[in-house]
Formats: sequence, C-alpha cells, structure tokens
Amino acid sequence: MPCLSVEPKVLAHFARVLDHASTEGVLDAKSLGELHREFLARDKSGNTWTVGLKTGAWNVVEAGRWVSRSTPPDRLELELDLFLRLNALPDEHRICPCCLDHQLRKHRYCTRCRFDFGP
Ligand SMILES: [Zn+2]
Repeated sequence: MPCLSVEPKVLAHFARVLDHASTEGVLDAKSLGELHREFLARDKSGNTWTVGLKTGAWNVVEAGRWVSRSTPPDRLELELDLFLRLNALPDEHRICPCCLDHQLRKHRYCTRCRFDFGP
C-alpha cells in the first residue's frame, strides 16, 4: 500500500473533518466507524499514531497500549487510500495530494502546484 509522508497538521486537519462528519451525519455510522478505526498513521520507526477527534490529543501505541503524547513526530506516513477517503469528506478545505498544501475546495487547481483536483 503506497503511503504519503505528511506533517502532523494534515492528520489534525483530518481529525477535525472526521469529527465534523460524525456530528453532521454526512456518513452512515458503519462507514464512519470504519474510517475512525483506520484513522492511523506511522512514524519512521513504525510506531502507530492517531489524533483524538474530540480532544485533538496525540496518541501512540507503546508496548501494545495507547499512550498520550504532547507532540507528534515531524512526519507521519499515511496510507494513500485512507488519505483519499478522508480528503473526500465534506469540508471547506482539502489537502493537495501532490504538494500537501491546504487548499480551498472551491479551487479546481492547486494554487501552489497547479494540481488538477478535477471537476
Ligand atoms: Zn498542490
């Protein structure tokens, strides 16, 4: 499975979008539960991280248990398929898959790298 290396702020953005999707009922409970369960990223050492949807708190798996951390690593690996599904959730912004910049959804082309998001 191909992965994207992203800054933690991308994951924090998706946590807000996912939380919003759950409170607004834009997805059925099953799809939302699946996305929430899969909402994980890995650091370069292979540790599994996530962000609390409500709390915004960073958590990492250590010795089989979730442990809270005040700061995430500089980069996290996110599976491309998961990235694309999260990016498709309704929000004013989306992340450019090419340059990873935050972009307003109303733009068809990335204002930074000119990536074509499609119609
Ligand atoms: Zn771009």
